[in-house]
Amino acid sequence: MNRTNFISKSFLILLIISMVSTAEAELEIKLVLQLTVDGLRTDLLNRSLQHHGNSGFQYLLKKGTFYTNAHYQHANTETIVGHTTLATGAFPSVHGMIGNVWFDREAGELSYNIEDPKHPLIPSRESAIKGEQVDPAQKLSRTQGRSPSAILAPTFSDGLAAYYGGRSKIFGVSGKDRGAVPMAGQVGKAFWFSTDTGDFVTSTYYYDAYPDWVQKWNSQLKADQYAGSSWELLEDPSTYLLYAQDDRPYEADLRGFGRVFPHNFAQSGNKIFYTQLFASPVGDKLLLDFTKTLVRNEQMGKDAIPDYLSVSFSSVDTVNHFFGPSSLETEDVVRQLNRTLSELLEFIDKTVGLKHTLIVVSADHGMADMPEYMTELGYSAGRLDPDEIVTIANKAGKQFGIDEIVRFFYRPYLYLDDKKITAVKADRSEVELAIAKVLTDLDGIALAVPSSNLSARQTNPLLEYVSRNFHASRSGDIYIIQEPYWFLFEKGPVAAMHGSPWRYDTHVPIIFAGPGIKAQKVHRLVHPVDVAPTMAAFLGMSPPGSSQGSLLIEVLQ
Ligand SMILES: [Zn+2]
Repeated sequence: MNRTNFISKSFLILLIISMVSTAEAELEIKLVLQLTVDGLRTDLLNRSLQHHGNSGFQYLLKKGTFYTNAHYQHANTETIVGHTTLATGAFPSVHGMIGNVWFDREAGELSYNIEDPKHPLIPSRESAIKGEQVDPAQKLSRTQGRSPSAILAPTFSDGLAAYYGGRSKIFGVSGKDRGAVPMAGQVGKAFWFSTDTGDFVTSTYYYDAYPDWVQKWNSQLKADQYAGSSWELLEDPSTYLLYAQDDRPYEADLRGFGRVFPHNFAQSGNKIFYTQLFASPVGDKLLLDFTKTLVRNEQMGKDAIPDYLSVSFSSVDTVNHFFGPSSLETEDVVRQLNRTLSELLEFIDKTVGLKHTLIVVSADHGMADMPEYMTELGYSAGRLDPDEIVTIANKAGKQFGIDEIVRFFYRPYLYLDDKKITAVKADRSEVELAIAKVLTDLDGIALAVPSSNLSARQTNPLLEYVSRNFHASRSGDIYIIQEPYWFLFEKGPVAAMHGSPWRYDTHVPIIFAGPGIKAQKVHRLVHPVDVAPTMAAFLGMSPPGSSQGSLLIEVLQ
């Protein structure tokens, strides 16, 4: 080799080495940003996409892989169940979060999923008004203490902590406690919005006292700045599909918030004020503001060790619940979320760099249209009265000589009184089958089944869903599945619901975007349990300990 050749060859090799190392540097992940949109059924996103320009969701779809056909595989499609499934890659039968609420047989009382009296809320201000709680699950919690102690499986974030020797910073934030706590795992820190104070709060599980930056954020009373203002449509009314059906009698009115635009917020000091903010795009905007403050103050994504930030947006779900998924309000809150999301992405690009960020988007469940709406359209639907279910089950118990056999009913589980069954020496499975049969015969109930004895599993795929939802000490004895568009509760302050194994409740988007990930739409059937193991694989880590999902190979190719 002559000298010139040698020099040019060496130059070429150096060039290749430098190109490879640049490519590697570009692939270096400094932040894993997991975004969950509470209650975002996939088609609610599809319905608004054309109005998103190139920002927010559209940006992610143009840069990332969008799984259009992702479905939960457990029966009780509720918030804590979905979030914990996303966080752990496990089914509720394994991670233990079988519902927002279950009956604790030993204590003889209801348990609110992540409630933990041992870890009380850290008070954020002295003279808080007690906000009125309208969330039906929250309402049942006895204390404000929260921790991940009842979650029985490790999360992606727990695995990240272990892999990087505890050097990753890990945070979960949300409008809801149950949107923040499961994602942060046992190792990370969690903050959520308080409808009592308008502050972001946490418990003694995470801190002894609020970090200075949180105290400062709360002292700025950002929520109160919306007092007396209103939620208006973001864009020209004529651009909305559902503009003509704003005023529907079955939508809920949160004490003067009204059923039509503009929705006026009460004054601060009003017990329902912060809940009204939460049931509007403002809830997500406040979460964005808090998230930015967190990223800046905690120096997220600043070094070569990947940090983890989970942001779970709650406003779409709350608006769904009060106004229904096919409402003008839901159409608008999704468009407004897109603005919030695009602002978040811009901010992350400036502070961390999107080329150093793995972004994962999904939802914890879908949403059902209200029975009243479906009836209006000509579909047979309705609401089941929980008291009637209990009365009918008790009547069926009498044939075994048992009075009041139902110990507790909280949808979807019916808990039977074990002591009474034992006392009359009845065959337990016979009793369960007899009660399940009379309930299945009721109008509006598709199927009631003993939740532990699922020998007929092979013949009815729905029973697989019930089985994946079964945890021996937490699940009730009989699982009740309503017919499509029937609700297992009467109309209260909350109008619309999710929680069934029907497709409108199981269908959620999954989007992965980040360095090296192709822009593509994938229509094959995938599942939210696949999310956590795929995130782990993207970073070269093993899946979370109890994960049961498969790898979303299109993300990794
Ligand atoms: Zn939810």
